[in-house]
Amino acid sequence: MQIDFAKLQYQYQLYKTEIDEAMHQVLDKSNYIMGNEVQELETNLQNFTKAKHAITCSSGTDALLLAMMALDIQPDDEIITTPFTFIATAETIAFLKAKPVFVDIDEKTYNIDPSKIEEKITKKTKAIMPVSLYGQPADMDAIQAIADNHNLKVIIDGAQSFGSTFKGKRDSNLGDISATSFFPAKPLGCFGDGGAVFTNSDVLAEKIKMLRVHGQNKRYHHKYIGMGGRMDTLQCAIVNVKLKYYKKDLALRQEVASKYSEQLADSSEQLVLPYVDTGCTSVWAQYSVRVKNRDDVQAKLKDAGVPTAVHYPMPLHLQECFAYLGYKKGEFPIAEQVSNEIMSLPMNPYLKDEEIVYICEKL
Ligand SMILES: *Cc1c(COP(=O)(O)O)cnc(C)c1O
Repeated sequence: MQIDFAKLQYQYQLYKTEIDEAMHQVLDKSNYIMGNEVQELETNLQNFTKAKHAITCSSGTDALLLAMMALDIQPDDEIITTPFTFIATAETIAFLKAKPVFVDIDEKTYNIDPSKIEEKITKKTKAIMPVSLYGQPADMDAIQAIADNHNLKVIIDGAQSFGSTFKGKRDSNLGDISATSFFPAKPLGCFGDGGAVFTNSDVLAEKIKMLRVHGQNKRYHHKYIGMGGRMDTLQCAIVNVKLKYYKKDLALRQEVASKYSEQLADSSEQLVLPYVDTGCTSVWAQYSVRVKNRDDVQAKLKDAGVPTAVHYPMPLHLQECFAYLGYKKGEFPIAEQVSNEIMSLPMNPYLKDEEIVYICEKL
């Protein structure tokens, strides 16, 4: 058996008629930039998340940049985040010449450990940036309480978690600003790059919309230094179709995850299974397990036709580009250990029962 990790081609075939139709409408109108499909998607995203404002943009990375620019993050400001994430989380902080300050992760959820945040707060700290890793929000009550106490902003990197909930609220509707990505392999993907920024603040939303178009408040009048950060009309048209089926997709992802967890429950001596905290739902961007002999296991699974991936093999404090921050090996022991052991199994809404059985057997 050969297993497909994300089944993107399968998903396109499933919705092909509707997606092709939506794309052709854009082509016929040739309204490639800021066509009406963009506003339509933003309205649909607001309805889905219940966030007051959804502003689409060119990628998840740019969504993070727009969020921080809107909050006026300046050089030398410090932003507290997790070292166990995709590079973009801390890269965007550093790109604005601010300083990423890392805090170790919780050993069960792999999200930032709120109990270790307060000791890292200084006079320069401006914000906390939790990541909803693998699709599960961090402990947002604890993080928001710390932020409120110290007058800090909360920016959620929800690139992997569109649709997840914390105590019944979508994670796009928490913190001061929440960012997501529509990269093809994310749970809600477009056919290229795309993203969105969410906020309940009218003032921030207004500013983000200007920053997205070169800081412009009127054509060729520029209030802020901004960027070219729009999402293509074509991509918005595609997400408009996929969003209609997204609740169903999420239910299917949950089913796949539950089946994995049931069938792997007997292997708890050799495997650490994913843990979803009470009060949270995950959108299962990844189903990631921990194994001690990961290289071996990955190689054997590959031979058996089961692709796996590692998210992520090296925590950010040990990356060459962050050497200037002066972190050392051993500083974040949980992030380091999890990086050495973590391995993601094929995850998509369309995995068949026999495929799940096969993957679990081989594993
Ligand atoms: C994918 C991802 C991003 C970046 O999103 P892009 O759309 O690829 O720019 C940022 N943060 C995390 C945690 C991600 O997984």
